[in-house]
Amino acid sequence: TTEQIKELATKGSVSTHFKDPSAIDHLREISRQEYLTKREEKELKLLELSLRDEAYLFEDVPLTQEEIRRRELNENILKMARDKHRFNYKEEGFMISDGYEDENGLIDKAKRDAVLMQRYEPDEVVKTEQEEWEEHQFNSALSTNQSPSDSYDLVMEDQIEFISQQILQGTRKRSAAGNNANKNTLEDVDAEENENDDADPAAAAALTAHEKILVTRKKLPVYPYRDEFLAAVKENKVLIVVGETGSGKTTQIPQYLHEAGWSKIGKIGCTQPRRVAAMSVAARVSQEMDCKLGQEVGYSIRFEDCTSESTVIKYMTDGMLLREFLNEPDLGSYSVMMIDEAHERTLHTDVLFGLVKDITRFREDDFRLVISSATLDAEKFSAFFDNASIFMIPGRMFPVDILYTKAPEADYLDAVIVTILQIHVTQSVPGDILVFLTGQEEIETCVEILNHRTKGLGSKIRELTICPIYSTLPSDMQAKIFEKTQEGARKVVIGTNIAETSLTIDGICYVIDIGFCKQKSYNPKTGMESLIVTPVSKAAANQRAGRAGRTQPGKCFRLYTAWSYEHELEDNTVPEIQRTNMGNVVLMLKSLGINDLLHFDFMDKPPAETLMRALEQLYALGALNDRGELTKLGRRMAEFPVDPMMSKCILESEKYSCTAEILTIVSMLSIGSSVFYRPKDKAVHADNAKMNFARGAGDHIALLRCYNDWVETSYSTQWCYENYVQVRSMNKARDIREQLEGLCERVELEVISNNDVDIISKTITSGYFYNIAKLTKTGEYKTAKHQHTVYIHPSSVLIKEEEPAPWVVYHELAFTTKEYMRMVLRIRKEW
Ligand code: ADP
Ligand code: MG
Repeated sequence: TTEQIKELATKGSVSTHFKDPSAIDHLREISRQEYLTKREEKELKLLELSLRDEAYLFEDVPLTQEEIRRRELNENILKMARDKHRFNYKEEGFMISDGYEDENGLIDKAKRDAVLMQRYEPDEVVKTEQEEWEEHQFNSALSTNQSPSDSYDLVMEDQIEFISQQILQGTRKRSAAGNNANKNTLEDVDAEENENDDADPAAAAALTAHEKILVTRKKLPVYPYRDEFLAAVKENKVLIVVGETGSGKTTQIPQYLHEAGWSKIGKIGCTQPRRVAAMSVAARVSQEMDCKLGQEVGYSIRFEDCTSESTVIKYMTDGMLLREFLNEPDLGSYSVMMIDEAHERTLHTDVLFGLVKDITRFREDDFRLVISSATLDAEKFSAFFDNASIFMIPGRMFPVDILYTKAPEADYLDAVIVTILQIHVTQSVPGDILVFLTGQEEIETCVEILNHRTKGLGSKIRELTICPIYSTLPSDMQAKIFEKTQEGARKVVIGTNIAETSLTIDGICYVIDIGFCKQKSYNPKTGMESLIVTPVSKAAANQRAGRAGRTQPGKCFRLYTAWSYEHELEDNTVPEIQRTNMGNVVLMLKSLGINDLLHFDFMDKPPAETLMRALEQLYALGALNDRGELTKLGRRMAEFPVDPMMSKCILESEKYSCTAEILTIVSMLSIGSSVFYRPKDKAVHADNAKMNFARGAGDHIALLRCYNDWVETSYSTQWCYENYVQVRSMNKARDIREQLEGLCERVELEVISNNDVDIISKTITSGYFYNIAKLTKTGEYKTAKHQHTVYIHPSSVLIKEEEPAPWVVYHELAFTTKEYMRMVLRIRKEW
């Protein structure tokens, strides 16, 4: 009621009480009522604005139509962002503790609200005219010679208070040692000893693009150690290399090995935990070697092989190398294998450790193993590889000032936007910003809001180039993050933890760290795996901070409190092997003839329960017999680079003669959730198009019909536009499908077509029977195996069914605000 709102308003706690948009309407309504005093009206308007985090736009005059429209637009975007990130609130159990709890764990709301409301201190805001504000921003953006340190408190009202608590000091300064002259192709170009790139513009201009690249190569921290490194490789069958991110490990070491002649004996391989890194680094190195990507330098990631007969340096994902073991268990075609980013400890890297260690023991002197890591804890690697030598590359690292928020931020996405703008208007250029968020959707939302906000400010602020980066971004967009920032402008790279150590972006001075990442989590008891937004570890947070100090002193803005950092972050990230489903890897190891998994040489053993669960699942799928040995079915399943449940569907389709359809569904599922898009202004049309494909059946069938309709139009792009389908995803699916069809030939599986929805759904069920859920009387779904409550994801075509399906099978679980089933198919009980 009005009275309640007024009462809350005087207490200053409205914003936390109204997460629902109707509250804004209500506020707007009462502010129009005449009996309110001018003062009350102002306050209510202010609160209304603060709900939209637009307090800084507050002005003491009625809004024009255009302004109302603009603000509503902004409000919608922000609301959308909040809805997506609601899980971040304390109430949902994800917010790192804000220190307002009493000893019973209850939150002192009044105390918290008071802090939150400080950001919207009424009197001050009322005084601020928009004109004045804009002029102020404009001026501060122009004054480039101000001291950065004291300018933080004069930004917008909509600002976050940070406190500087700690300085991350580089432990390893640049060392003058080891500067011996080198005999190599790099020698031909004289390296500028000067740190400044543009020391002599005339001389620089005289160089060709490739010569310039050679100059840059010589400036990397690893370069002075080139000969020492090559000597060490010669002497040691296994060598652990440690060097700060950006020192040149990934791009230079394989080239040095090639230049030193190792490529004459065999290929030089280098694994990466992430596909984007494998692609981007290969592209960079092919540029440095002045050759076409895919020729001397190539890469191989799942469903995409960009190598040729002439490839001597091959970058690949760790998962791809694991797969190569199936065809070449001794890695006979390689002379050197570099397991890069070892500190990441991905599942595949961890399994590779055991396999390559074995190889170094039986291969002759024609094979070398290099393990490279960006962190200092190399002793563990050394110990695992029979006390292998450690080669340190002294890095240069400038001090990074670490700033924490004074109070916890309830909505980190909002805080990110504010911080970016805060940095942008107060700090001089050059000085790019790197933001760590948790995933693609979040990154896109952030980019959208930021575009909108900067557009609103127009030419009043200097240019801000916004570059997203995540694994499924098309490569031309990925390349954008490496482009040199235009003079006078600032670049902000918004990405996942891919930029933590895998990619080095030059010119970053400011890092914004939300303190979360998306992590796989697995419960071996229930066999349930889901992606969860989790606090990062201290080690990861420090890696993130380090990205600000690569070329000059920098700043890292942590959107959490110093207390949280100290008390709530784990020291190190738990290796993936201890929090994931191992079905796929176990099937692969079994195919390699490794039967005794309990005694496999793991650096950190997976929980015994996880191994048992994997064995049990493979047995249930028919891939293993009751003695735990690989069956014929299992052997055929292992040929497919997909999850065992999926490969089971493919092989089972033989029985039902619907292999063509299953291949299509599997290909469409493999490209992730990016098939359909949903423009906000045409959401209804987009939804209808999707429902049209499903026609009452589930998401799998919608994907199948979508693909088939597209094929019928001869792969028409126009058709994709008309049906809100992403052309790029469709082309990718077509490519994957062709490859899977090739693999079918290998296992002698004939690709026959059968369009019967029941038969297809039944085949899917034969692989995914672990993922069955049943509708309960209360309208929720419970998993058949563990009576766990799950919900249909809002993006599913089944969400709109008037008659909910009594039994469903789902593709995967995603845990955001609830445990959601993604990609859901209606099935029958008797199946
Ligand atoms: P490390 O592996 O030790 O972290 P890298 O070899 O990845 O270091 O990076 C060395 C240098 O190469 C960095 O300065 C980085 O900016 C540059 N670099 C790497 N990849 C690219 C790319 N795709 N485009 C432009 N520069 C790149
Ligand atoms: Mg690297």
